[in-house]
Amino acid sequence: MKYNVSENIKDALAKLTGDAKVQEALRFIEEDQEEIIQKQIELTLIPAPTHQEGKKAARLLEMFEEEGLTDCRIDPYGNAVGIRRGTGGGKNVLVEGHMDTVFPLETELKIRRENGWIYCPGITDDTRGCASVLSVIRALNAAGIQTQGDIHFVGTVQEEGMGALKGMQYYVNRHPELDASVSIDGPGFSEITYEATGIQTYEFTFSGIGGHAAGAFGEVANPLAAAGRAVAKISDLKVPEYPRTTYAVTGAFAGSYESIHAIVNKAVILLNFRSDSQEELEKLRKEIFRCIEEACEEETARWGKDRITYSYRHVCDINAGTQPSDAPIVQAAMAIAEYLGCEEPELGHGGATNCSRALEAGLPAVCLGGGADYDSKCHTLQEQFKEEGAFRGCQSAFLLTLLCAGSDIAGSVIE
Ligand SMILES: [Zn+2]
Repeated sequence: MKYNVSENIKDALAKLTGDAKVQEALRFIEEDQEEIIQKQIELTLIPAPTHQEGKKAARLLEMFEEEGLTDCRIDPYGNAVGIRRGTGGGKNVLVEGHMDTVFPLETELKIRRENGWIYCPGITDDTRGCASVLSVIRALNAAGIQTQGDIHFVGTVQEEGMGALKGMQYYVNRHPELDASVSIDGPGFSEITYEATGIQTYEFTFSGIGGHAAGAFGEVANPLAAAGRAVAKISDLKVPEYPRTTYAVTGAFAGSYESIHAIVNKAVILLNFRSDSQEELEKLRKEIFRCIEEACEEETARWGKDRITYSYRHVCDINAGTQPSDAPIVQAAMAIAEYLGCEEPELGHGGATNCSRALEAGLPAVCLGGGADYDSKCHTLQEQFKEEGAFRGCQSAFLLTLLCAGSDIAGSVIE
């Protein structure tokens, strides 16, 4: 089905792309590709596992300062922030890429560049996003374009894994002056993320008295058996295929070789579940808690002596969220992709990007890819970045930023 872009947004994009300064900026982005790749490489070589982004943030902040941004600072959460003030009257836009990677500090970071590809852990996800942020700033400066709204350029922390998009959550919740958000993450040029998959991760701990494997037999219930009952019950839960809803028991810990002849007093399971619909997510959460409670009751009743109890830690809590698929920011992103030569731009379903936190905060938001369409093998040591056509990711972020912030060439399309 052909996606429909309103006349109003087509007009605004036509005004922009018909402007000499904007054309100069688009050309600049293409010519500046090698310079941006050099910055991308420099930042990639600074290790930045989640919660340890400090050095990379300090260097990105210097780069923001070198490009003339104002109010440059590392915020209390660790995000690197620089502002490009507008002339007034437009919309304030956040443009961000996340600085953290999934690779531990000791991972060897070595650049191999050959045949139009660059290989290094973190080169794409999401150092390319940070480099694209720099590209947008440099293009605005090179062409001397003033926006109406302020633009907040940010390198965010704690996107990956246990970070659970918390750097972004911190930033959007503390900046009510923002009107829209553009994230740049991973590769891809043709797919636009505009929704948020709800993601929940829990750690459940089952507790009992414990005792000798044989001596306490019949005298105590077994927390590990309760955990086993819970895992079996959860594994039988039925979830809808659409909206896509999933669950997995991702860890289980109890006992040790030292206590191989003991009934444990604690057993832990880790559980991750997701849905593109908040309603399904809540339903599943209830079902899972019912399974946990029933498992405790059944194991308690089996022996009738002591009581198995449970406690939990909520490790990751991201709401599912969406916005109309014809929201102006989504239409603008689709129109831009087409303008830049993407034959069939597509809307992604769900998503686990920083866009999720912007949607949670009620902002119109999208996440764009930072370059060409290819398999980046991200989150593996074989991670790769394709150079050919990568500047188009920067061009699309540049045009979308302009359409959102507004300028005297074309006003903001955000309502
Ligand atoms: Zn990422």
